Amino acid sequence: LFARGLATEASSSRMPPYPKLVRNLEQVRRVLGSDRALTLAEKILYAHLDNVEESLLTGTNNGRDIRGKANLKLKPDRVAMQDASAQMALLQFMSCGLPSTAVPASIHCDHMIVGERGADTDLPASIKGNSEVFDFLESAAKRYGIEFWPPGAGIIHQSVLENYAAPGLMMLGTDSHTPNGGGLGAIAIGVGGADAVDALVDAPWELKAPKILGVRLEGKLSGWASPKDIILSLAGKLTVRGGTGSILEYHGPGVETLSCTGMATCCNMGAEVGATTSIFPFSPSMVPYLQSTHRGHVAEAAAKVAAAGPSSLLRADTKAEYDQVITINLSELEPHINGPFTPDFSVPLSRFADTVREKKWPETFGAGLIGSCTNSSYEDMTRAEDLVKQATAAGLKPKADFFITPGSEQIRATLDRDQTLNTFSEAGGIVLANACGPCIGQWNRTDGVPKGEDNAIFTSYNRNFPGRNDGNRRTMNFLASPELVTALAYSGSTTFNPMTDSLTAPDGSEFKFQPPSGFDLPSAGFEEGNPNFLPTAAVPDASSEVIVSPTSDRLALLEPFAPFPEGDLSGLQVLYKVKGQCTTDTISAAGPWLKYKGHLPNISANTLIGAVNAATGETNVAYDEAGKQYGIPELAETWKERGISWLVVAEDNYGEGSAREHAALQPRYLGGRVIVSKSFARIHETNLKKQGVVPLTFTNREDYDLIDACDKVDTVGLYDVLKSGGQGEIQLRVTKQKTGEVFTVPVQHTFSKDQCAFILAGSALNLLAKKAHA
Ligand code: SF4
Repeated sequence: LFARGLATEASSSRMPPYPKLVRNLEQVRRVLGSDRALTLAEKILYAHLDNVEESLLTGTNNGRDIRGKANLKLKPDRVAMQDASAQMALLQFMSCGLPSTAVPASIHCDHMIVGERGADTDLPASIKGNSEVFDFLESAAKRYGIEFWPPGAGIIHQSVLENYAAPGLMMLGTDSHTPNGGGLGAIAIGVGGADAVDALVDAPWELKAPKILGVRLEGKLSGWASPKDIILSLAGKLTVRGGTGSILEYHGPGVETLSCTGMATCCNMGAEVGATTSIFPFSPSMVPYLQSTHRGHVAEAAAKVAAAGPSSLLRADTKAEYDQVITINLSELEPHINGPFTPDFSVPLSRFADTVREKKWPETFGAGLIGSCTNSSYEDMTRAEDLVKQATAAGLKPKADFFITPGSEQIRATLDRDQTLNTFSEAGGIVLANACGPCIGQWNRTDGVPKGEDNAIFTSYNRNFPGRNDGNRRTMNFLASPELVTALAYSGSTTFNPMTDSLTAPDGSEFKFQPPSGFDLPSAGFEEGNPNFLPTAAVPDASSEVIVSPTSDRLALLEPFAPFPEGDLSGLQVLYKVKGQCTTDTISAAGPWLKYKGHLPNISANTLIGAVNAATGETNVAYDEAGKQYGIPELAETWKERGISWLVVAEDNYGEGSAREHAALQPRYLGGRVIVSKSFARIHETNLKKQGVVPLTFTNREDYDLIDACDKVDTVGLYDVLKSGGQGEIQLRVTKQKTGEVFTVPVQHTFSKDQCAFILAGSALNLLAKKAHA
């Protein structure tokens, strides 16, 4: 391991640039007029604009109608990447040829570590199995001056909260739960690798100005209710799509009653309702949290900025208006349990047993898992410990397997020192590595539940899609607070309500849990833990070689894509006409393919393998001009070898689901030049343009019916539109393969001037690399 930097160092890169942000906010107010009240999220976002006037005045009715309309060009302060997504992000960054990243950045090795027997066995095995990837990430970090957190150091979002997140900061993270940093008053947004590269090379990162959904908190939590229950109940109200295109901004008197880590839990799970991010205003609990995580200087600076009151950068203006407001009274909030299979099926604890019986869900369950990036704070763990101590004193042991995942080495070492982990272990709990493990399918379950059999588990994690934890799509994952999961583990029953029901102790007496109590922060401060888990120093070293073996099947350096030809595209062939839904998972499947995330040629062998053939109803079955049958990626590869560029015809919302950039990179790598659909998912449409693939939509939706696989297509007007920065009209000239008939269909585009430049250059990266060397 390289010499590690000090995690405790009062690094200036961890201080948000407050003087600049305050000045920028003043400029925002000058542009918008002093009578325009701003929410907290608007203040922080707009204070990070690259060009305030251009972003706020273009197409927004003189700045009066920004939300949902303006294209914000933002300059984030920092980037964080997890090991799975960092591979492609770094490979793309490397192809720009810069000596170092333009903003501070960090890499966190967490996703590729299994949870099975416990940290001592699982961590060395995972390091061995993934050493090639970890070596690459560490060597790239050393070369470009990125802080590298090695396997075992912790989960990205917990490490970010403990080290980098701060009130007023704006950061991007290549993971959907990056909004966790909103618990410390940061705007933290989850993105794909290509977006992260924008920030890493100092190019403005574009975001459609989000709407602001206010969540007003009143009252105070007590008893069994925890911060997790705020977001579990909110997910039930909003559903998995209710936050799309919005930032959730918490406010109201209840905010000041919450711990900083509890607020992070709420923000973390805002991703489950599709929100762009979530944020809390500067509040009293942030100060001791920053101090205890060695950032007293940040606490002091933030407090000074916030002292200006509601007009300050770190709070919403008194008259700020939200697009919608949901009010939650914390004093009346009941614990909730959400699931199975979706995080928005939310049931209050008092109704859960009846729901289990009505729905015929299993009445027993096999495992309770607490911790993860969502819920492994000192408060979470000491409240769970209190319950374990109560049960142990009565002679009880958990009936379900009980797993504990600390979110970071800092929290693990602190809980170890304070005997919390010992309490869990003596009760039979298994402490897993400080990593994602069971939360992301890296759970080799040893309790003998056969794949494909209905069963239940309870976790304090954030997601519960089918197959997410143990690869068994029939495992019903119910989400609840760590306290509730812990108490339920002692009953092994899904119908147990610890607030009202009793258990029978070994001596025959009735045992009833008392409401849990714990501590927000450790009275003796946080331990640093194993020094080998501290990050490398953020100093670029041009002499350091980035380790990528030419024979590797997991990593491959990227070759730049060819620029757009000097004229329209001609002789394209329709590779596939897709019927129905086509998500990013359909285009680039996950599961075992995750292993090849850093190897574009290898992962391209999964391209569109989930897509349904509109002509035959078959999945992943394509036919060439002679009627010979192929898998879709095989036909694409064959055409690529023959020099044939191709296009895909698709229906609505092509590319929905996630920001997975591989779904755009892979078609481009295999020779795809155009996707023409009835409509696109917005993020994927942008990703396609970034990789130099042209997304077009049918002007008349029924024209979808006119084009079939193997038809030939020429673009008409596309080149002129690209050269003029997005002006003009485009048509497709179609030659039917079977009859030779020729006709044209009109199509629409959404190219901005910048995006035209990406496509002409061959990809956004090509353009960035050119600018970097100009
Ligand atoms: Fe994602 Fe789970 Fe890891 Fe958190 S613990 S970063 S949700 S995989």
